[in-house]
Amino acid sequence: MAVASRLLCRTLRGWSRLTTQPLLPVAPSTRSSHAGGEGRLESSSAKSLTDVGIRRIFSSDHDIFRESVRKFFQEEVVPHHTEWEKAGEVSRELWKEAGKQGLLGINIAEKHGGIGGDLFSSAIVWEEQAYSNCTGPGFSLHSDIVMPYITNYGSEEQIKRFIPEMTTGKCIGAIAMTEPGAGSDLQGIRTNAKRDGSDWILNGSKVFITNGWMSDLVIVVAVTNREARSPAHGISLFLVENGMKGFIKGRKLHKMGLKAQDTAELFFEDVRLPASALLGEENKGFYYLMAELPQERLVISDVAISSCEFMFEETRNYVRQRKAFGKTVAHIQTVQHKLAELKTRICVTRAFVDSCLQLHEAKRLDSATASMAKYWASELQNSVAYDCVQLHGGWGYMWEYPIAKAYVDARVQPIYGGTNEIMKDLIAREIVRDK
Ligand SMILES: Cc1cc2nc3c(=O)[nH]c(=O)nc-3n(C[C@H](O)[C@H](O)[C@H](O)COP(=O)(O)OP(=O)(O)OC[C@H]3O[C@@H](n4cnc5c(N)ncnc54)[C@H](O)[C@@H]3O)c2cc1C
Repeated sequence: MAVASRLLCRTLRGWSRLTTQPLLPVAPSTRSSHAGGEGRLESSSAKSLTDVGIRRIFSSDHDIFRESVRKFFQEEVVPHHTEWEKAGEVSRELWKEAGKQGLLGINIAEKHGGIGGDLFSSAIVWEEQAYSNCTGPGFSLHSDIVMPYITNYGSEEQIKRFIPEMTTGKCIGAIAMTEPGAGSDLQGIRTNAKRDGSDWILNGSKVFITNGWMSDLVIVVAVTNREARSPAHGISLFLVENGMKGFIKGRKLHKMGLKAQDTAELFFEDVRLPASALLGEENKGFYYLMAELPQERLVISDVAISSCEFMFEETRNYVRQRKAFGKTVAHIQTVQHKLAELKTRICVTRAFVDSCLQLHEAKRLDSATASMAKYWASELQNSVAYDCVQLHGGWGYMWEYPIAKAYVDARVQPIYGGTNEIMKDLIAREIVRDK
């Protein structure tokens, strides 16, 4: 049986619980099908940087999946995004539809209740969302940042309880590390959980929490031992559910960009948590965070470079039709040189990010390399956004032009997931470390 048909049977068996036919990500075991990758074009030689069927890291199975994901964003997200930007949140129905189509929890093992696809299939969802220029749905945070904490550190009971619901989009996940007084310096957090018999009592507040307003489940980072030999040794993670007494959602924050993404403040006032709410071991939370953050940085870097590819293609189309001085703007040599610079910088960065994706799929991506990708790609995204708005002239400053939205949405990328100053610290630490 051909690889694609075998996959189809295998994945459909795993998805029999879903009500509509899901899209088809690629299972990790079929990585050898990438051998066909040698004949694939890299972005630099492709007709468009967002073409389906390019880049060696993907296979023809991925292409089929990418086509369907592209269709999903064009049909289910793009037409509603302006309305969601006004509301400051996307609809619950969208989450459920994404779940039905198998777009959540792709890189989570089937045995845990996920889809069981490879990392590259997850990356296709991040990339296609960036190509749609719609930053509202917090899918990547839910699927590739929050869910892995539960499968990697959760008990069997926690996995069974939350992962299948998260894969169907009925339970929306968030992670709450940042506080009004502590962001980069995570060891300075004040939210704390104290034992009361076998329960825990949680107090404190968090800010800037993506998916915070819509969340059904939040991983909350809290101090559990103030006497520990260093703050890092006294931090734990808790699974806090919407509706728990004392768990209060504050306002949706009014942001410069990411207008359709619900970013919220969260408050915890004597929230009583059962012992089963502790995620992993007591006082190991900081180590779990350090282990999971490279994946978060990889997601940000892939979204950043994908957004660059989107902006480049938007701008290429614009300058080819915009007229000035009797010819198209694309005929002006300084514009051509600018496009050449942009394309070169984007393709060089794409090669690095693709290599990081490959390393991570092979479980070989180290923290400093992930930090380099995040720092470099998010800075590039902002500089590409600046140049692309400039090439659009005054129209680039108008909200109805996609490039204006891409410009404001880019600004947060060097800030969250660890600021780029912190990324440089992590990179430098490895450089000067005694061998
Ligand atoms: C839209 C959005 C969504 C977010 N989503 C989430 C989320 O889902 N969950 C979550 O927990 N957090 C989230 N955050 C928070 C984000 O991760 C933090 O804003 C970020 O880590 C920076 O922390 P801070 O804002 O407290 O800045 P600060 O730590 O106060 O930093 C201020 C400035 O000082 C610099 N600085 C600080 N320390 C150093 C140092 N040692 N060396 C050099 N420079 C330094 C910083 O780089 C920055 O330029 C989100 C933020 C935004 C804006």
